[in-house]
Amino acid sequence: MAKKIIEGLWDCPYCGQKGIGGLTKSCPNCAHPQDAGTKFYLGEKKEYLEEDKAKDYGKGADWTCAFCGSLNRHGNTNCANCGAQREDSSGDYFENRRKEQAAQAKPQPQPQPKKKRKIAPLIIGILAILAIIFFVTRPKDKATTVIDKTWQRAIDVEALTPVREQSWSTPPQDARNVSSRRAIRTYEQVLDHYEEEAYEVPYDVLDGYDTYTEYEDNGDGTFTEVEREEPRYRTEYRTEYRTVPVYRDEPVYDTLYEYDIDRWVHSRTERSGGSCYEPRSEQVRAGEWSVEAEPYWPDTRLGGNEREGGRSEEYILYFTDAKGKSYSAEVSEDLWNRYSRDKSVELEVQGSRVLAIDGVRIS
Ligand SMILES: [Zn+2]
Ligand SMILES: [Zn+2]
Repeated sequence: MAKKIIEGLWDCPYCGQKGIGGLTKSCPNCAHPQDAGTKFYLGEKKEYLEEDKAKDYGKGADWTCAFCGSLNRHGNTNCANCGAQREDSSGDYFENRRKEQAAQAKPQPQPQPKKKRKIAPLIIGILAILAIIFFVTRPKDKATTVIDKTWQRAIDVEALTPVREQSWSTPPQDARNVSSRRAIRTYEQVLDHYEEEAYEVPYDVLDGYDTYTEYEDNGDGTFTEVEREEPRYRTEYRTEYRTVPVYRDEPVYDTLYEYDIDRWVHSRTERSGGSCYEPRSEQVRAGEWSVEAEPYWPDTRLGGNEREGGRSEEYILYFTDAKGKSYSAEVSEDLWNRYSRDKSVELEVQGSRVLAIDGVRIS
């Protein structure tokens, strides 16, 4: 590893002279000596010291005279500027640099309140939008009157119907035309054999060295040039083998039954419905509904192989306010029965949705 000494440069803080040789301890222009504020740097052109001169440098940093503040050679026992003894001074070039860095890192007032001022209008804007949304969509009370009531009822009818079914278990007692056969019910993974399987294992191989040059500040007006090498690696792969099990799918047979059996199957839905005061709905116009005030269940006229399935019902009240805006709400049969045409009703609404009728919450 080659090691070369290069003379650094410094700037005189007193007269402003730039690029003075690091080994020139006083400014050639104003005679101001190197002091605590002196910082060595490398010039564009690297001036290497002759070998016999170079051996005297890079041995230790310059020391700072505690009395006059000037920098002195590492080996000097007295200050070249004022003659003070070295043993009465403790600081050196590197300590000056550390102090300089600490002073730069310290106070720096943080300019942060600016951000807050930018966020404030944004928050106010969001709150304003939320307030508008709340104002528009908040529940409101509306004085209305009942204009109509409708009702709908339905009964599902199921018929006992013969169906063809398949089953892996023994057919029920009432099954007819039973047949059975062997069939594949599922597949099972069975170990067939073992196989050698190749796989790649990565490893690093030294590919060569990257060299680069670094310059270390010796703190005595010189720099040491150091050639550094860094190993560079590349990834290679080697093939290795492992034994892995290989499976095959083995069919599992079972007895599959097939038979006819009677099951309850949905066959039809019977409906009834009515609009109490106005032929307002499509159903009335289409003749499906009559104008009937009293709800009734439709006649199912069950046949010998039929039964009732589920029942369903729906009761709707219609309202209008002074401005002619209409509302409707599905309610329980009990609530529906309490209202008749032209009755005054206090609604709580949110948009066009009815939340409560005369204080009674509806879901
Ligand atoms: Zn000067
Ligand atoms: Zn001195």
